[in-house]
Amino acid sequence: MNSEKTRILAHLQAIRDNRPHHFWVGTMVAAVSLFSMVAAFGTAPDSMEIRGYQRTVVEHLPLAPDTSNVTESQAFVREERIRRGDTVASLLSRLGVQDEQAFAYLRRQPNTQPLFRQLRPGKVVTARTNESGELLTLTFPLNGSKDNLLVIEKQKGEFKAGEQEPQLTTQVMMKSGEIRSSLFAATDAVDLPDSIAIQIADIFGGDIDFHRDLRRGDRFSVVYEMLLDQGQPLRTGRVLATEFVNNGKSFSAIWFESKDGQGYYTAEGKNIRKAFLRSPLEFSRITSGFSYSRFHPIHKTWRAHKGVDYGARIGTRIKATGDGIVEFVGRQGGYGNLVILRHQGRYTTHYGHLNGFASGLRKGMRVSQGDIIGYVGKTGWATGPHLHYEFRINNVHQNPLAIALPSAPPLAPQQMAMFKTNADPFIYRLNRMRGVDLAQLD
Ligand SMILES: [Zn+2]
Repeated sequence: MNSEKTRILAHLQAIRDNRPHHFWVGTMVAAVSLFSMVAAFGTAPDSMEIRGYQRTVVEHLPLAPDTSNVTESQAFVREERIRRGDTVASLLSRLGVQDEQAFAYLRRQPNTQPLFRQLRPGKVVTARTNESGELLTLTFPLNGSKDNLLVIEKQKGEFKAGEQEPQLTTQVMMKSGEIRSSLFAATDAVDLPDSIAIQIADIFGGDIDFHRDLRRGDRFSVVYEMLLDQGQPLRTGRVLATEFVNNGKSFSAIWFESKDGQGYYTAEGKNIRKAFLRSPLEFSRITSGFSYSRFHPIHKTWRAHKGVDYGARIGTRIKATGDGIVEFVGRQGGYGNLVILRHQGRYTTHYGHLNGFASGLRKGMRVSQGDIIGYVGKTGWATGPHLHYEFRINNVHQNPLAIALPSAPPLAPQQMAMFKTNADPFIYRLNRMRGVDLAQLD
């Protein structure tokens, strides 16, 4: 690997201009990048889809490059931002393209003319070349709202040019962390995007109340998609597999799609969706760090007032914890603004002290689990903004935090084999991350 790296650096040195920073991607640097990402962030791209990338400062000229066994597959990818005053020639030169034939083609071809007419400063242009600077691919963002690209490619010695939609590639990321204060503090510590933290909270929403149940020492591992545009992170995708150890109890979830539906399942193929969410509050960076102790001056414990109080800012969104029908919307004594939902006949959930109701919410209306039904307030018998939440079975109060609630049906037997095949690599990854965690704790 070292000699390869040396050769890349030498090559870059040979074609560099006086700008010290280059962004570059190459098939040969994949291993180097993979290693540096693991070392720096504890993450690893999926072995099937390695798309390495890194920023490198080329400052020193290493040994002269050995070009004796260059092959077509040893391609270099470089990116350059268009500068004011650039010409196609100056741009190609900075991209390391030294190819008269390519330049002649670009000049005479009608559909490559946007390259000459749309040299808007700031656009990022990518070129793939072989080691002697011959152009293999050139990617140029076209003007317009669709983000389409002009792509010039050399295939079997012939150039072809055409317009393409941006080609996003997916990188599979793996991260794990331990909760010391809050979920977001932990996810920040391992540089996990908020959207992934929120997906984790949603996935385990039937098992864990992320507003009240988290404990110091809880751990999570997650395998998720990152969408790349030309090798650079663009946005996060879906959580593919995740594990959460809460208060010593381990939960895992693996994404699975089949013709009969899609969702998250345990390693054993049980659907992790539950009839009720553990928390009626929408999980966010704001609600995750809220202290509850301030909001118990009236009701000290669940036993005293038969509900659970969630302190949160006025206006925080409140979700229906289960599929149901609206039984009551309006004002009711100490509850202030109240919503009551009825589920499967014998269950009701009650949401009190609301600041307001979701627009259009009416008695008799059907709602689905997770639908927003109202907003946190302090109406009625409340000294501070909080949600008062009750769970009743046949109108008898139950502690919603203590109840084991029925889950959605498991996978059909005929799908289990497919699920197992799909899930095994993810279970392996989750196990491996758990192993890494334990090793670090020793
Ligand atoms: Zn209360």
